[in-house]
Amino acid sequence: MTIPSRTIGALVAVAVLAACGACASLQSPAPSAATPQLASSQQVMDWIAQIEARGFRRPAYPADAWTEQWLRERLIEFGLQNVTLDPIEVMRWEPQQWSLQVWHDGDADQVLELESWPVPLSAGAEALEGELVLSPQPGAHVAGKIAVVGLELMAWPQARMRDKVATWAYDPAGELDTLTQVLPMSERFQKIMDPEIAAGAIGFIGILDFPWETDRYYNPYDARPRPIPGLYLNRANGERLKAFMAEGPVHARISLRRLQAPAMSHNVMGSLPGRSDDWVVIGSHHDGPWNSAVEDASGTALVLAQAYYWSQLPQEQRPHNMLFLLNGGHMSGGAGLHHFAETQKDFLERQVVAEIHLEHAAREARAVDGKLVPTDKPEVRWWFTSFIPRLEQSVARAICKERLERSLIMPVEGFPSPGRKHPPTDAAFFHPSAPIVSFLTAPMYLFDPADRLDMVHEPSLLPLTRAVIDIVNDLDGVGAAEIREGIYAPPRPQKMSGCPAS
Ligand SMILES: [Zn+2]
Repeated sequence: MTIPSRTIGALVAVAVLAACGACASLQSPAPSAATPQLASSQQVMDWIAQIEARGFRRPAYPADAWTEQWLRERLIEFGLQNVTLDPIEVMRWEPQQWSLQVWHDGDADQVLELESWPVPLSAGAEALEGELVLSPQPGAHVAGKIAVVGLELMAWPQARMRDKVATWAYDPAGELDTLTQVLPMSERFQKIMDPEIAAGAIGFIGILDFPWETDRYYNPYDARPRPIPGLYLNRANGERLKAFMAEGPVHARISLRRLQAPAMSHNVMGSLPGRSDDWVVIGSHHDGPWNSAVEDASGTALVLAQAYYWSQLPQEQRPHNMLFLLNGGHMSGGAGLHHFAETQKDFLERQVVAEIHLEHAAREARAVDGKLVPTDKPEVRWWFTSFIPRLEQSVARAICKERLERSLIMPVEGFPSPGRKHPPTDAAFFHPSAPIVSFLTAPMYLFDPADRLDMVHEPSLLPLTRAVIDIVNDLDGVGAAEIREGIYAPPRPQKMSGCPAS
């Protein structure tokens, strides 16, 4: 590439981007179609179906490795440039054999065997024995014992979210007035075993007091091995255990065998050149805890839908260069995100106009007779958006235009707890380096094997795709430096209400 005519700024850009394989080329792609086509809902559903049909897509599992190659082929097929598989190190975790037996003190011949499932990242054990104790309980001491802990998912009234947390809402039917959303996390978030570990427990039994019956809860996923074994029980088995414990002191024996070792995964990337020297990044993650249609075959397919659309346009009709980023290792502490944010810090801080992250085109589900049943409604949509009025207005305008009901524009800081400096989404790794728009829904089944194709909210796919296209087009003519000039410190100078004018 010859560069004598480039400005200093562009020279910096080339130097910065040289480190990012997928962002390196600024040359034009093949000729483009006159009228770009949107990927149809059916097409996007088909992409999701192909990904989720491969099996459990945990980091470094064969299904995830297959998905990386399949994504690479799709990006090449769309004509993207610099399609790259960037290696990352992840923690591969695979449960192999486990069991839980309990008996009353002095009655070891009467053993009750309970079905269970291992707490991810908990330690292996070979017939570990100990006394059971409920935790947390006043006066209970878990040191040297096996702690039994009830876990409930958080339930948040959405009227409060709308009125106290969100900066803006689109709820034409007024559903948020009465809606309470069950989240996929307890108040412990990923620190499920940590209080009892700190108190000296030798083992952990978590009773999943969830609205539906399950003992398969893929949490924690922070790639941090825990020093004691843990098992989950579903609610029914948890009740049996608690009734057994109410009859007198109980001992338990835990065995747990699992593979847990570092392994390789990849971020999949590809780029398209645009009109400016700056960049828009559109991302999601390709791995998931189970077949995981929503988490995040759906986000990955939404990114593919963007790549498909923008690849058909001539370079001059793309407002900025575009990087499509499908991370690996989400279920391994966000390994792919860490890697990208660390290796591309300068790029994110100086060249990126916006990082748009797409996670979970989810149906709301209800629990009926112990089972999860998807409804016709989308799960409440959160749009974590940087404190930049023009960006917030773009997001609000796109939501209104596409009638994306149940939408809340959420702050990128201060949620879910005051003082938090990052949003609770994958875009956490990009804030505050780059302006972000982080779309995310949090259905209660996100870490459960029930997340299959019927949980994807198909009617959302096209409107979401068009909304993101509108947000990108709204960034036309505004550079990476200029958009940062609009950043405000909360509270917002003027409250935004209603739908902004087109
Ligand atoms: Zn996700």
